[in-house]
Formats: sequence, C-alpha cells, structure tokens
Amino acid sequence: MVEPETCLARQKIAYFSMEIGLSNNFHTYNGGLGILAGDTVKSSADLKVPLVGITLVSKKGHFKQELTSDGKQVEHPDPWEPSEYMQLLSTEVTVQIQKRDVTVKPWLYTVKSQTGGAVPVYFLDTDFETNNPEDREITTFLYGGDERYRLKQEIVLGIGGVKILDALGLDVRKYHLNEGHSSLLALELLQKNGMSIEKVRKLCVFTTHTPIDAGHDKFSYDLVRQVLGEPIPFDVLKKLGGQERLNMTLLALNLSNYHNGVAKRHQYSSKAMFPGYEIRAITNGVHSYTWTCESFRNLYNKYFPGWANEPDLLVRVDGISDEDVWGAHEEGKKVLIDYVNKVKNAGMNYDDLTLGFARRATGYKRTDLLFSDIEKLKKVNNKGRIQLIFSGKAHPRDDSGRKLIEQIIGYAQDLKNEIKIVYLSNYDMDLAAKLVSGVDVWLNTPLRPLEASGTSGMKAAHNGVINFGVLDGWWIEGWIEGITGWAIGPQSNESFSVEEDRRRELEDLYNKLENIIVPMFYNSRGEWTKMMKNSIGKIAYYFNTHRVVQRYATEAYL
Ligand SMILES: *Cc1c(COP(=O)(O)O)cnc(C)c1O
Repeated sequence: MVEPETCLARQKIAYFSMEIGLSNNFHTYNGGLGILAGDTVKSSADLKVPLVGITLVSKKGHFKQELTSDGKQVEHPDPWEPSEYMQLLSTEVTVQIQKRDVTVKPWLYTVKSQTGGAVPVYFLDTDFETNNPEDREITTFLYGGDERYRLKQEIVLGIGGVKILDALGLDVRKYHLNEGHSSLLALELLQKNGMSIEKVRKLCVFTTHTPIDAGHDKFSYDLVRQVLGEPIPFDVLKKLGGQERLNMTLLALNLSNYHNGVAKRHQYSSKAMFPGYEIRAITNGVHSYTWTCESFRNLYNKYFPGWANEPDLLVRVDGISDEDVWGAHEEGKKVLIDYVNKVKNAGMNYDDLTLGFARRATGYKRTDLLFSDIEKLKKVNNKGRIQLIFSGKAHPRDDSGRKLIEQIIGYAQDLKNEIKIVYLSNYDMDLAAKLVSGVDVWLNTPLRPLEASGTSGMKAAHNGVINFGVLDGWWIEGWIEGITGWAIGPQSNESFSVEEDRRRELEDLYNKLENIIVPMFYNSRGEWTKMMKNSIGKIAYYFNTHRVVQRYATEAYL
C-alpha cells in the first residue's frame, strides 16, 4: 500500500518559463526573468521542493553582443550544444502548429543541490528530421522572429510542455506559469479536464512580471486561428483571453486561482491594469549561493555554516569583523578591476570608488541618467575620484536602447581624461557575477513605476555592495536611507509631474554622490563597512529565492 505521504511527495510542481537561466553555458536566458526562473529552480532543489522545470532549448540563444569602437551593437547568433551538458530523452509528443504535426522532445538536465535535493529541467526541442524545416527552427532563437514565431514557441512550451509531462508519467499537482508565455498550457488542461474552468483554475498558479501593458503578449485571433487552430471554441477563448486579441496575461489570470506580482509596488500596478483580479505580491529574490562571490562565500561558511540553504542566517552579519568584510570586498573588487583592465585596457584602480550599472539597455532603465549634467558629474569626481563600469544588451529591434549604448560609449570617450568609464560587451551571468561583487556602489535609475522588481541590486547586497537607486520595484522594500543604501528621487507614495520627478532625481543623484557617498567612501571606512554589513544583514538575508520558494510552497503550491 502507498503511504499518503509518499503520494504527496510524488506529486510535482511543474514550473513553466520561456527562459530558465541556470548557467552561463546554457544560452537559454535573456535577462531578469530567466535568471529568476533559474534561481527559483536552484532554491527548490536546495529545499527539496518537488519541482520540475519546463522551458525551451533555444539552441542559438538570444544573441551575442559585439560592440564596435564607436558604440554600435552588432548581434551574432549565440549557439550552444545541449548534448555537452544534458541528455536527449526518447519521450516524444506531437503538437499541431499550422495544421502540421510537430514533434517535440525534451533534453533533461538535473539541478543537483549539496543538500541532496534535485530538480529536473526539461528543455523542449523541435529540431528533428521528422519535422519540416520551418518547424525545426521553432526552438532555435529565444525571443527571435516575429509574432508568428513567438506564438509557435508558446504552443511548444505550453501545450507541448503539458503533453511531455504526461508522456513522462509525472503526476502534476500545480502548473506554475512564470509569465504569460506559457498560458496556452491552460487550454491543454481544459481539454484534459472536460472543459472545466474550475478544475483548471485549481491547477494553475500565475506570476506576472511586467507593469506595462505593452509588455504582455497579445495575438490577433486571425493569427491564432492560422497557427494554433481552434483547440477550444473561439467564443470561449475570447471570454477567457479578451475579445479583441488573445491576451496571454488575461488568459492566465482567468485560468489560475493564485496570481502574484513580483514586488509590492508591482502588485499595485498589476491590480490597476487588471481590475477585479486578486493579485498578491511575492517580491523577487536571488539564489544566494550563486550570486555570492568566493571571498564572501568563504566568510559566510566560516561564520554561518549552512547559510547557503538558510540565508536568513546572514541577519547575524554584525558578528563578522569590519576587516574581514572589507577584505572579502577587496578580493571581489580585484577580480573585476583586473578583468576590466585586461579586456578594456581601462587602467582602473583598486582603491577608487567604483560605480556599477548593468542591465538591459532600454529606454525606461535610463542608463544615461548619470550623464544628464556632465559638469556636476565632474564636480563629484573632483571631490574624490570615481570610475564607472557599464554593461547591458539592447534588444535588436529597440533602436532607442541601441542608441543608449552608443551614448554611454560616447561619454566615455569625451570624458576619458577625467573619469574612467567602460562599457563591457555581452552582459551575461558570469559578467553579472563579477560586476555585482566587484563594484562599491550599485546604481539603478529606472523611470518609475516601470521596474517590476529588479534583482541585480539583491545580488550586489549579497556581496556587501551598497545600492543607490530610484525608489521603484524591490528597492522600495529594501531601502532604509543611510542604513541599507541611498534613494534617488521621490518616495513611492509621492507623486509629482514627470519633470519634477526628474529634477528631484538629479538633485539626489549628484548631491548624494558629492556630499555623502564620495566623502564616506574615502574618509569614513567604518561607516561604509557598517552599510556594507547592513546590505548583507538587512537585504540579502531576505531578498533571496529561498524565501520566494518557501512562500510559493505555503501559499500557492500546497
Ligand atoms: C540579474 C541579471 C539580470 C536582471 O537584473 P535587473 O536588475 O533585474 O535588471 C539581467 N541579466 C543578467 C545577466 C543578470 O544576471
């Protein structure tokens, strides 16, 4: 007889995500969404949560970024070889795309934790001889191609994913839709469950990730009819996914009974966008061990054995001496500065105040805000030397994002005799890890309220790097002025015109740099180290995916 307990343990949480970033070797991620998914999978493995991941194999990645000397972004395919790391299973299913049968098979990679926990991740692939040449390309490029290509990918992910789990014989307790890309899985579940919306809702958990309407996938019903066909009657589909176009977020909201945004502020924007839906907040986190550099890992191992599976222990950071914290930081900083000097011949110094900014180059992230007033930036530098390190890719079709990169590289040229500035090409997980542990201050200047959460600042905090950012996304929850970091611009409950917001942001940006940050860094090492420790003890101990997964487990999965 089977013990009831064993039954529960056998049931799986199926975590669906268009991108899952587990390692720099797998080019299956683009940015924050994928890294969050990978970190969630890793924490689930550590915590022995019975989760399985489903994503696409994206054999040529998103793209590899080359930057010309005048700052132009050139994109190259970014291939990787799944067979070097994972195993192609013989399990296969077919999905209907444009009235053709398309074969889908999974590559299996198992994330293994030191704790003995393990999470299998299935990377879906359509590149097989049985498929027609066009269909073989569906899982080639992450976020490549046009709307039609995207819809095909979402059919493979959502519908193919459910079928693969069935074919593998897995007993799925909940389907977690990480962003609306996988919403079509709910249509497959409707068919499996006698078209019972109630039953499907009980099976699905949905996390939304963007606070702007344009960020949600929407497909015309014409396209849906051509590519997907009519798996459920269109009148039903339109009730669930919108009358005008098929909105994947709406579809997910209507077919799940637990919804959450990725920060408290984002919960409010999401509720405003989708009135009438209960949307909760589970603020993002990062996988602590992955994003802590070697010198800090050693320090935490010494003071807090077991911290990697219990990052709450970092709350006791005040037990570590200032010298040890500073020493660990110097090691991380040396790795980064050596790297920058090697690849860019930048001539940067170990002892200079170093600011880092790395994120997707796109309008609302405002990579260029720091250069709004060059004279004031020079004044800051006269107070105490600063050096600036940037990185980030622009989406190939985002012209204003590409322009931003050109501008920063232009400023670096113009200012080269005064301030050392570099823009590092091809931002990826390895580079991110170096940056968030090697700078002194992590800068973030999004146009609020467009940053859903943001996670790189959490990575920085794990390495004692101090955040200086606009109060948006997670930072509203992590910030205590002068204690865990510094704010740029108005508080989240203050609402001004766009111009007034910007005026206040620039005022804080330059004034705090000149009068607080630079003087403290150069003259008050004790105060500075105190804030480094607060980043660890008041931010990292909480903003990690162990907390995120524990909350999903208790609130959404059980
Ligand atoms: C963490 C990370 C991101 C997301 O950082 P944000 O602060 O959310 O923009 C993007 N890309 C890479 C490579 C990362 O490691």
